[in-house]
Amino acid sequence: MSEQLTTGVLDDGADARRRYVTAAVKVRLHQRLFRERVLSAYQEQCALCRLRHASLLDAAHIIPDSSSDGEPMVRNGVALCKIHHAAFDQNILGIRPDHVVQIRRDILDEVDGPMLRFGLQQMHGQKIIVPKRTEFKPDETALERRYQAFLEA
Ligand SMILES: [Zn+2]
Repeated sequence: MSEQLTTGVLDDGADARRRYVTAAVKVRLHQRLFRERVLSAYQEQCALCRLRHASLLDAAHIIPDSSSDGEPMVRNGVALCKIHHAAFDQNILGIRPDHVVQIRRDILDEVDGPMLRFGLQQMHGQKIIVPKRTEFKPDETALERRYQAFLEA
C-alpha cells in the first residue's frame, strides 16, 4: 500500500518533469527558428550598423515574445548586433514606425568614446535597413506600439 503510494508520487514527478522538458525544448526550438528566419530575412546584417558577423547578431523582438506557441513571426523581429539589441531593449534607442532611429535625449548629450559617438549618437536620424520582401518587413503596428513604449520610458 505504502509502496504503491510512493510509486504514484514518483510517477507524478516524472510526468511533471517530462512536461517541463518538452516545454523547454519547444521554447528553444521556437527561439532558434525565430533567429534563423530573422537573420536570413535581414541577410545576416545588423539593421542599424550593417555589421555582418552572425556570431555578434541577434534576432530582436519588436514586441516581447510572451508565448512560445505558434509560428515565429519574422515581422515581429529585427536583426540587430549585440550592442544595438541591448540598446533597443533598454530603450536607449527607438525605431519609429517609418524606420527612423531615435537615440534617447540624455544619451545624445553625453560625451564619451567611439562606441557612444559612432555606435549610438551617429545612428540618430538614420533609417534602419529592412528586408525588401513585404512579408519580412517589420510590422508597423508592432513598431508603433514599441516606439510608444520607448517615448514613455
Ligand atoms: Zn549594430
